[in-house]
Amino acid sequence: MSVLRLAIPSPLRQAFDYLPPENCTDAQLGSLQAGIRVLVPFGSREVIGILLEVVPASDIALDKLRSATAILDQEALVSSELMQLCQWAADYYRHPLGEVLPAALPASLRKGEAHKSQGESAWRLTTEGRGLPPGALSRAKKQAAALALLQAADAVSDEALQAREISRAVLRELEKKTLVESCTIPPVAMTPRARDALTLNEEQAAALAAVDAHWGKYASFLLEGVTGSGKTEVYLQLIDRCLQQGRQALVLIPEIGLTPQTLNRFSERFEARLAVMHSGLSEGERYRAWEMARTGAAHIVIGTRSAVFAPLPRPGLIIVDEEHDRSFKQSDGFRYSARDVAIVRARTSGVPIVLGSATPALESIANTESGRSTLLTLKQRASGGALPPIETLDLRRAPLQSGFSEPLLQTIRDTLSRKQQVLLFLNRRGYAPQLQCHDCGWIADCHHCDARMTVHRAQRNLRCHHCNASMRLPRTCPQCRSGALATSGLGTEQVAEYLRTAFPETAVHRVDSDVVRGRQAMSDLVDSVSAGGPCILLGTQMLAKGHHFPQVALVGILDTDTSLFSTDFRGEERMAQLLTQVAGRAGRADVPGRVLLQTHYPDHPTVQALITQPYADYARTLLAQRRESGMPPAGFLALIHADTGKAGAGEQFLHHLRRQVGLPAECALVGPLPAPLPRRAGKFRNHLVLRSTSRPALQHALGELVAQASAMKTPGDLRWSVDVDPQDAF
Ligand code: ADP
Ligand code: ZN
Ligand code: ZN
Repeated sequence: MSVLRLAIPSPLRQAFDYLPPENCTDAQLGSLQAGIRVLVPFGSREVIGILLEVVPASDIALDKLRSATAILDQEALVSSELMQLCQWAADYYRHPLGEVLPAALPASLRKGEAHKSQGESAWRLTTEGRGLPPGALSRAKKQAAALALLQAADAVSDEALQAREISRAVLRELEKKTLVESCTIPPVAMTPRARDALTLNEEQAAALAAVDAHWGKYASFLLEGVTGSGKTEVYLQLIDRCLQQGRQALVLIPEIGLTPQTLNRFSERFEARLAVMHSGLSEGERYRAWEMARTGAAHIVIGTRSAVFAPLPRPGLIIVDEEHDRSFKQSDGFRYSARDVAIVRARTSGVPIVLGSATPALESIANTESGRSTLLTLKQRASGGALPPIETLDLRRAPLQSGFSEPLLQTIRDTLSRKQQVLLFLNRRGYAPQLQCHDCGWIADCHHCDARMTVHRAQRNLRCHHCNASMRLPRTCPQCRSGALATSGLGTEQVAEYLRTAFPETAVHRVDSDVVRGRQAMSDLVDSVSAGGPCILLGTQMLAKGHHFPQVALVGILDTDTSLFSTDFRGEERMAQLLTQVAGRAGRADVPGRVLLQTHYPDHPTVQALITQPYADYARTLLAQRRESGMPPAGFLALIHADTGKAGAGEQFLHHLRRQVGLPAECALVGPLPAPLPRRAGKFRNHLVLRSTSRPALQHALGELVAQASAMKTPGDLRWSVDVDPQDAF
């Protein structure tokens, strides 16, 4: 008797056994491949599982096993390479394999739709049509022409038919007569080609040569290059080498960086098939991109986080651009780091991987110091021109107008009068972060979170940026009926309003997720700013990523201080990354830039570090400090979260869990502690922090904790989860 062992999307960390479907013959059973989808009853529902293996017997009595409903695929949809990668990720992140494997499939296949191989749509003759003599249907000229074309080939693509001016209507007529039918044909094979490569400078050429020596085997590189140093040009030339070997390249990009500009750079360079994968695509588009990658028709697969699980029959190179970006870490559910999974994927596939950034994560720098990865540096801007120096503006005792000191306003005026552009950074959207009653002290809090509601004045509402709850902006105080409601603090909406009155002649572009929605909007904005002319860009971190604005000659950071006193141990690293990235948007050879930081703490060590040394040096100082404190990357961390609607229940659960496990000497448990936002969307959030000086010890202790937690009864709505290598503050 054969038993199907399946991974099923369920919080239970185990495989599930089923009998084969009743109509399944022995011959069919013998040919089943791991990685196919199987429809099975699960509780009272039907779900889709992935076949792990066919085993001769189960630990469960045969008469207790349920039968699978149907086998959905002939061939494996998850290749053995990806199966192995998913298994690694499930083990490493302590997440159920059944919930990891779906990451390797597009939504339509996860839902059970039939797997259709992708190709170009085309038309061909039916048996009846093939029976017609040449020159048939001569009275209907167009139909006769179509027939003649189809008689000359097995199938003709829509495109080719259209080129001969044969309309769909004509084909439909023939279809009605059952002479022709639609079909798909495999995409025509094409040889990828690159054009217009730039001549690399010395640093770029050295980087290329270093990777060039490692084709066909695993090697890891960190390309640490200042903004504008030509990292992308290095990627493009590496991809070209990869394609010339008949292999596929996988390029991972942060969520916000995948814009039409980025894609244009690839499609201008390569005459090759690109498969693009990101969250903004329709289900059909995602499916087509996935299938193109899987069949090998796509030469380059470019996508955001989840593209790290894209199927690639002939992998040759992996690139992770802006590798420090937080969007590579999934922050809920299956909490994986796409960058780290990419490194493991490169190793299991035996291909080189290049991580690139102007502001690498300390984890990646540490890997170059330990010899696990090779450091490649680009210190010069490729287009010439120096990086703008960073200066501070002391805000102490300085009169402020809507957050601006007079020296900053004067510098803005001077810059605009030279017909140059200004970029201002304020990492807070909305009109104001707080609404308060002057008479009784009432503050607009979110009812579901431990957070204040943000005032959005144009839309006349209050919104919680943590749970998206919103309500109408009140005119009078809900507590005392007074009309003396006042906002405090500044958001981009308010500052943009001020700028429009202070600089009535100048275009002011507000850039935050409230006004710039969708990839096209950002792209339009970049186009109009690049077209030239003085203007002011005011935005949040949206401005810090990816886009270069060559005519920006002044960058002003309005609220340096809000990021200065973070409780997160990564606070300084993050701040240095953000400010270096924002500063790097400015300047080119003929437009030297200036970067001004407004701060009440010009002597603060982080501020001093930023103005006196490049990120690369400061990052290494921070890394030395981490080695002293034993924090990552010098030590290892994991969190066990408990979320519940009942106050106290999460803490109690975690206390109990903590008492159940004995820890190896290299590990320590801290907590339970309330999360930085202790209540979000109505859930109380607590966690245990597991620290260790050794990775294997951490994994071992985590295994114990997960086994215990799985065995414990969870009260009511409590959900627990694991976060290995957490990125968020705690
Ligand atoms: P990064 O990805 O490091 O920010 P880019 O690859 O976008 O840098 O390059 C910045 C600018 O320099 C681009 O306009 C690019 O065309 C130009 N550039 C890159 N490499 C070279 C080169 N070798 N020679 C001339 N210009 C270059
Ligand atoms: Zn009041
Ligand atoms: Zn909320």
